[in-house]
Amino acid sequence: MTEIYDNAVTSIVLGIEDFREGSDARMISAARNYYAGLLLLAKECLVRAAPDADPMDVIGAKFEPVPDGDGGVGHEVVGHTTVDFAQLKRRFKAFALSWPEADVEKLQRFRNEVEHYHLRAPEGALREAIASSFPMIIDFFETLGEDPQETLSSVWDTILEETAAFEKVKKSCVDSLVRVDWPGEVRDLDRMSCRACSSSLIGQADRENTAPGGVRGKCFQCGEEFGRDTIIEMVVEASYEIDSYAATKDGQSSAIATCPECGVHAYVQSGEVDVCFNCQETVGGDCSRCGTNIDINEYNSDYPNLCGYCAHVFEKVMQE
Ligand SMILES: [Zn+2]
Ligand SMILES: [Zn+2]
Ligand SMILES: [Zn+2]
Repeated sequence: MTEIYDNAVTSIVLGIEDFREGSDARMISAARNYYAGLLLLAKECLVRAAPDADPMDVIGAKFEPVPDGDGGVGHEVVGHTTVDFAQLKRRFKAFALSWPEADVEKLQRFRNEVEHYHLRAPEGALREAIASSFPMIIDFFETLGEDPQETLSSVWDTILEETAAFEKVKKSCVDSLVRVDWPGEVRDLDRMSCRACSSSLIGQADRENTAPGGVRGKCFQCGEEFGRDTIIEMVVEASYEIDSYAATKDGQSSAIATCPECGVHAYVQSGEVDVCFNCQETVGGDCSRCGTNIDINEYNSDYPNLCGYCAHVFEKVMQE
């Protein structure tokens, strides 16, 4: 047992005890303790992966080159700052350790806000951020070859219950949106984030509705409701934002565009899909002059049957 590991376990247990008690005041303390514990647990994974090294050489954040007297340099730790989650993730990779899938970004952001005494999100969202990272503890314990049930026995029930409860609400939210007869595939809906509290628990206000025209969104964490345009934009963004990012990186135009028909930013042109998720219209299709698919970003309502290039050529001819 190392000091880091003992401190990690103590902090996590304290944090989850605060979390279980549930009052708003205790949530701040829960976030502090729990976050510190999670960070320490990740550091312990690195330290154990290099058992012969000085722990500070493994988890130190800053290093400086020092001449080794033989014409080369070695690196020495500077100060007492240790790695944060972003650095840990990179070092896990370098150490060939697998990094857990759970998302700690929200927890990290809330933790920083707490530290600066202006938590903007309601305590419920902080609660969700903590609970949604519980699977991370399990992954770190697996990397360490330790038994989480035995080590965290006093709070183990809470971990299991909260993980199950959270997953259950999340599944019901996602299911309610998948049920809608969208004009194209929707996916990755658990990536949606409430514009008021950042929660991922976004579903349909009327869970049984299947008509795209009747979709209204609701955050099942803070209760915020979203009108049809907004929730449709959120669904499209979660489903096609990655395509959009990849396209922009390749210098292509984004997969998501503002629909020329209805003005909602929900037009998807991704190769497989070419339709507006709001008004269900497909504009463009193939260019009547050259036959290429009309890029929605170059769509010109004056020449609805021409691609951007042909519309441009046609316009020039008209001017001459
Ligand atoms: Zn919310
Ligand atoms: Zn539209
Ligand atoms: Zn053309």
